[in-house]
Amino acid sequence: MHRIDWRIYEAGHCTHPECATRRGAALASIRYPALAFLLQHRQQGNLLFDTGYSEHFLDATRHLPERLYRAVTPVHLTQEQPLRMQLGRDGVATAAIGRVVISHLHGDHVGGLRDFPGAALTCSRAAWDDLHSRGRIGSLRRGLLPRLLPEDFLDRVSWIEDAPRHDLPAALAGFGAGHDLLGDGSLLAVPLPGHAAGHYGLLFEDPSGTLIFLIADAAWSSQAIRDGVPPPGLVTAWLGDTQTYRDTLQCLHELATTTPAVRILPSHCNEWRSR
Ligand SMILES: [Zn+2]
Repeated sequence: MHRIDWRIYEAGHCTHPECATRRGAALASIRYPALAFLLQHRQQGNLLFDTGYSEHFLDATRHLPERLYRAVTPVHLTQEQPLRMQLGRDGVATAAIGRVVISHLHGDHVGGLRDFPGAALTCSRAAWDDLHSRGRIGSLRRGLLPRLLPEDFLDRVSWIEDAPRHDLPAALAGFGAGHDLLGDGSLLAVPLPGHAAGHYGLLFEDPSGTLIFLIADAAWSSQAIRDGVPPPGLVTAWLGDTQTYRDTLQCLHELATTTPAVRILPSHCNEWRSR
C-alpha cells in the first residue's frame, strides 16, 4: 500500500456557542477552524480533502436569505487564508491539484471548490441527490449553498459509492466497508453517517506508517470523541439524523479508546495545532 504525505490547512474559521456542538457545554462562543487537507500520493499527485471557506462563501452569503448562514455562524477569513493562497505559498499551484475529495456538501467544506477548476471531484451521490431534492430555503436550513458548486460539477465528479468496496483494518470494522478511491488501496473513503447526507471520512497511511483518519464533521472536537459526548439532539436532528450520528460517534469513541495509535482528525477541532 502506498503511503501518503499530507498537510493540514486552516482556511478560515467561524464562531458559535460551544453548547451547540457539545451537550452541556457553556454558552460562550468558541472558534471552530475550517480545516482542509493536502494529500500527496507518489504516483497520483496532489489531492485535497475539502476546501474550507473562501471569498466564494462570503459572496454566496452576502444577501438574504443566505446571509442568515453567516449570522448563525459568523465567519472569519483573512485575505491570506483561502486555501489556494496558502497552497501557493507552499509551492503547490492550483493547477497541480488533480482531485478534490468532498466529505459532504456543507458550505464550510466546499467553500473553495471553485478555486480548483481543473481538478476532478470525488463526492457522494447521496449527498448530491439530497442537495437537489431541496429548494433554496430547504438547502440553506441544512447548511447547503448550491452556488458554491461549479456549473460543470457533474462533468468532473466520480461518485464515492461507485468506487470498489474495500475492507477496513480490523480496528475499524465497526464502520463497515470503505471505498477504494485510487484503485491501489491507499486511500479509503469511510462512511460516517448521521451528520449530513452522504458524509464520508478518509483513511490512509502516512509515510511513518501511522493510520490517519480524517473524519470531517462526524465529531466537532477530539475531546468529544474521547468523552463520547454528542452535540444536543436538536442540532444533530436539524442537520442530519441524531441516532445515526450518535452511533457513528460511539464507533469513533471505541476506536480512540482501543486503538489510540490511529490519528483521528475532525475538521473543526482546535487541537490540530498542538499535536
Ligand atoms: Zn458539516
